[in-house]
Amino acid sequence: MTDTTEPRGFETRAVHAGQAFDATTGAVIPPVHFSTTYAQDGIGGLREGYEYGRSGNPTRTALESQLAALEGGAHGLSFASGLAAEDALLRSVLKPGDEVLLGSDVYGGTYRLLARVLGPWGVGLRVVDMSDLGAVEAALSERPSRILWVETPSNPMLHITDIAGLARLGHDAGALVVVDNTFASPALQQPLALGADVVVHSTTKYLGGHSDVVGGALIINDGALYEQAKFHQFAVGAVSGPLDAWLTTRGIKTLALRMQRHSENAQAVAEFLSAHSKVARVHYPGLPTHPGHELAARQMSGFGGIVSAELEDAASARRLAESTKLFQLAESLGGVESLMNYPDAMTHASVRGTELAVPEELVRLSVGIESVDDLIADLDAALARL
Ligand SMILES: *Cc1c(COP(=O)(O)O)cnc(C)c1O
Repeated sequence: MTDTTEPRGFETRAVHAGQAFDATTGAVIPPVHFSTTYAQDGIGGLREGYEYGRSGNPTRTALESQLAALEGGAHGLSFASGLAAEDALLRSVLKPGDEVLLGSDVYGGTYRLLARVLGPWGVGLRVVDMSDLGAVEAALSERPSRILWVETPSNPMLHITDIAGLARLGHDAGALVVVDNTFASPALQQPLALGADVVVHSTTKYLGGHSDVVGGALIINDGALYEQAKFHQFAVGAVSGPLDAWLTTRGIKTLALRMQRHSENAQAVAEFLSAHSKVARVHYPGLPTHPGHELAARQMSGFGGIVSAELEDAASARRLAESTKLFQLAESLGGVESLMNYPDAMTHASVRGTELAVPEELVRLSVGIESVDDLIADLDAALARL
């Protein structure tokens, strides 16, 4: 393994952490280990601790080291999906009677997991606008929460939360502070350095980066919490398969380059949409008019690739979503290709009618790394047809 404790630049860590060449053959790219079981040198004589594919796999270990190195954390754990990672963390920490304080604008599936899977097992849920620290403080003074869970930038409204401020409030109230860093990725934002306890990822998005592998991750500093989450990973079994882990590792090597281009293209798209007469409102933290702009400029090293826009009415938003050509109408985000999403009926259909419901006039764009002129021409043509 590469020594990730050495102070190295982010891009260097992305390429090298967990990626030492194969000691037996010298292969520069470590092999993908498909074996489900490992020969023992006498009963219990494990080589490098590997015993069985659910408890550990060298390809998964390589990804876990890479993830920890990128987030500046002590430990990484990789899962079959982002929600599997969330579930492992939540069940490691919570017991019946505990409560989670959830950001009002988070991934719909996170809300669904808490409200409909963990709720019936006795876990409480309160929702608050995390970008308003006063509201968080008021909620915590009402009664304690075991976990504060935030996404920043949030999905799909792109609200920005002050992670350092939230971590202080949470820790004063004895809560664990969890940041879903999927939208920013570690290339643009490092929540652990800002005081968060745990970083969650859907690696399906920017980390994998090519819309070809579903996965999730936890990055944790505290040794005891890591052991608990690792136990759940082993005992419940929602691990990454070897090929999934390898594809994610390969994607991660170009993360910094991709995030730079995603951010540049998204900025240009946001500026184009802001100036367009048929667009009522644009949400992008890179716009100086965005209420979280200053905070995002301090807390992030780029504004990311997601832009949301409100049209004049729901019908226009639906028509726009269905009429771009380069921006393909699809769920998910974070791949090299541009995607268009109508959250109300697609990604956020599961929170329709709840306190997490999103505006019906809203479209969400995952701006890819294509030529930006082509992206803008596509939007321009689609808006002209409205
Ligand atoms: C997609 C997503 C998830 C869920 O991850 P899966 O890999 O789809 O299970 C969680 N949080 C955010 C912000 C996401 O975009």
